[in-house]
Amino acid sequence: MSGLDPDRREDVALVSRAADFAARRHADQQRKGAAREPYVNHLAEVACLLAETMGEPDAAALVAAGWLHDTLEDTQTDPEELERLFGPRVASLVAEVTDDKSLPKVERKRRQVEAAPHKSVGAKAIKVADKTSNLRSLTASPPEGWERQRIADYIAWAQEVVAGCRGTNAALEDRFDRAVAEARGTL
Ligand code: ZN
Repeated sequence: MSGLDPDRREDVALVSRAADFAARRHADQQRKGAAREPYVNHLAEVACLLAETMGEPDAAALVAAGWLHDTLEDTQTDPEELERLFGPRVASLVAEVTDDKSLPKVERKRRQVEAAPHKSVGAKAIKVADKTSNLRSLTASPPEGWERQRIADYIAWAQEVVAGCRGTNAALEDRFDRAVAEARGTL
């Protein structure tokens, strides 16, 4: 491994370990869309969106958190485990984008809109990447039984959440806007 300086080697290792961990934890899950894509495809897409648009110094932590962003919400993973394996920065980013699952779905969705403007820059980026990926799969493979109105409502809600995240990453926001335009085009 000559050629890669120690910091970069640690960055590459961190992101790779996060991808490995997320793929294993979500191994038996699929996306809601009719194509039943493996859930890991969503995580890879979110991580890629972040990697391609972020220029901040701790980009590796952000991309690792992108891989892990649904582990607390959708798998048997606790915050202490993330902190032990990936450090406090990654663990706190994932915690920031995790909904309180004890609340009803409508309330969780309302809180996402309300909380978005108060999130850290990194958490906002994960939110925008997550909603971009969700809209893309809604366009490519809508869930069975989702009527036009339900899709339109989802798009409108995603836009409300992202409205509270704007002003931190223009390149990422641009990708979100394109995903909205495409999703609207299918209605
Ligand atoms: Zn997600």
